Amino acid sequence: MANSADLAAQLAAPARAPGASRIFAVANQKGGVGKTTTAINLGTALASVGRRVLVIDLDPQGNASTGLGIDRHNRRESTYNLLRGEVTIESAAVTSREVPGLSVVPSTTELSGADVELMGESDGRQRLKSALRNAAGAGPDQYDYVLIDCPPSLNILTVNALTAADSVIVPLQTEFFALEGLSQLVRTIQRIRKNLNPELGIQGVILTMFDKRHRSCEEVASEAREFLGDLVYRTIVPRNVTIAEAPSHGQPVLMYDPKSPGSQAYIALVNEVLEREEEPV
Ligand code: ADP
Ligand code: MG
Repeated sequence: MANSADLAAQLAAPARAPGASRIFAVANQKGGVGKTTTAINLGTALASVGRRVLVIDLDPQGNASTGLGIDRHNRRESTYNLLRGEVTIESAAVTSREVPGLSVVPSTTELSGADVELMGESDGRQRLKSALRNAAGAGPDQYDYVLIDCPPSLNILTVNALTAADSVIVPLQTEFFALEGLSQLVRTIQRIRKNLNPELGIQGVILTMFDKRHRSCEEVASEAREFLGDLVYRTIVPRNVTIAEAPSHGQPVLMYDPKSPGSQAYIALVNEVLEREEEPV
């Protein structure tokens, strides 16, 4: 992978108009790298500093919905219905009981069938974008930040997310082969910019599951910084057992144990995200 400051400059997300809502896709086609954990905790941290947040669960596994405390029986309208144009965001969004100021459009296992269904439709890659546009058209923007939790694949669900988003947040697990996956994702982003969403950029790359006892973690971190420069956040999320425990309590780690190193990392991350998104007041 070439070291390229040009590439980083080209992929940096353009500045947003003040007051406009921001849509982030949390994406990486590898599973188990921290996408859902990042969507949940970034969402929680943004809500805790007073931003109105919507998390859209675009993974049929529904881990973001579960991790934000949305019970299965509370998922009558889901992202599957949303992509089929059967419901609006307003009606499908469920308010989180765990996190004030945060709503979730939950997913169900039905979503795994959407892949094949959408492939056959001419507007199949733009369904989420239309749903978000319709929501915004209904009145003043209801959310400051929309976070889309993507599945572990570059399938049409992820393409829907990248087409709807302003920018991408990429969790990158600090382990061997992480960068190979990253270049594939970068190529996908470039393709989507050409065909579907010319403004798409990368908000940032968050290094996750960092373990300072493993030299390979350091190596991957420094290679990522070499390849993508300032696109890589200064914050690094450590491997932390409390992060893995929190979802079984239906709570973001930030609520479950705010003092844990994992929570502290996500608080630092939200500050960096806000630094990049919002003019200082
Ligand atoms: P993805 O959404 O990319 O598949 P997840 O966020 O679900 O990844 O994370 C995969 C697993 O690793 C989950 O069980 C999660 O709780 C755990 N996990 C995520 N981040 C960390 C971390 N920094 N330290 C320890 N465990 C983590
Ligand atoms: Mg996930």
